[in-house]
Amino acid sequence: MPTTPHDSSIELAARLDANARVGHLVSSTPLSSSIHEVVLAGQAALLCGVPGNDVMVQLTNPAGKLVRRRYSVHSVDEELDQFTLWITTAHEGPGSVWARSAQPGDEVDIVGPRGKIVVDSGADWHLFMGDITCLGSAYRMAQSVEAPGKVVFIVETDHADDALTTTFDEGIAVTGIFVDRMGRARDDPAGLLSGLSAFAFPPDRGHAYLFGEFHVIKAARVALLDRGLDDTSITMKAFWRVGRNNADHGEPEKGD
Ligand SMILES: Cc1cc2nc3c(=O)[nH]c(=O)nc-3n(C[C@H](O)[C@H](O)[C@H](O)COP(=O)(O)OP(=O)(O)OC[C@H]3O[C@@H](n4cnc5c(N)ncnc54)[C@H](O)[C@@H]3O)c2cc1C
Repeated sequence: MPTTPHDSSIELAARLDANARVGHLVSSTPLSSSIHEVVLAGQAALLCGVPGNDVMVQLTNPAGKLVRRRYSVHSVDEELDQFTLWITTAHEGPGSVWARSAQPGDEVDIVGPRGKIVVDSGADWHLFMGDITCLGSAYRMAQSVEAPGKVVFIVETDHADDALTTTFDEGIAVTGIFVDRMGRARDDPAGLLSGLSAFAFPPDRGHAYLFGEFHVIKAARVALLDRGLDDTSITMKAFWRVGRNNADHGEPEKGD
């Protein structure tokens, strides 16, 4: 008999117009000092939506309470009915502990697709900025840009091997700027902003997508506005927040 999702996942999915399913873990493999690639199987097309979307995974926190964590879909293999997530694992939290310790065959309660940020099909160039939590989403979104197109990544890393790359179709011009954090605080935007200052905006229409730490992406948005990018050409989503667990529904707290 197929395992059914938790009642709360079924209710949540109905409220969000999404789907709740129980998938299986295929593998969890360290790709670098701070990133695990988690491969899940089951209803991939149904759960993963379009580039930019994420899935909510239900986990148990150290107090035994059920919580959800959101992870962007990095890639989908419809033939194998599998999808991959790139999960940061160098901190301690229910999500990182799960990604490090998950075993093949484990059942995973998933709600998806989630998320509203998609690729701006009218833009001539696409700028993805953030820390390494943005890589899965940024690469899937960028790979969906039609040629001829231009994609730019400005990403802050703690370790050289976290600067993971991927491949793109011919006809896509790719620029990657990886900035070493060099011990700066994780809510200090200085590294990302110095990466931005190294990038000359092309003359045609661009769109910036900001994913990462709460304070850092707010500062990056202000810097992009200062550089003349229109507010409607900037989309941002805080993925996590320094010093605080994400809330049980998976989002970082928004207040000061
Ligand atoms: C829409 C959405 C999509 C996301 N996509 C991804 C994704 O593709 N890959 C990914 O890795 N994360 C992604 N995140 C972020 C991820 O859900 C959070 O980082 C989440 O907080 C991790 O949960 P946790 O249980 O490990 O840590 P939490 O319980 O939330 O936090 C525990 C502690 O670790 C710190 N912390 C949390 N995340 C990080 C981090 N990345 N680096 C350093 N310290 C951290 C917190 O400040 C806190 O002190 C996404 C978040 C959202 C909202």
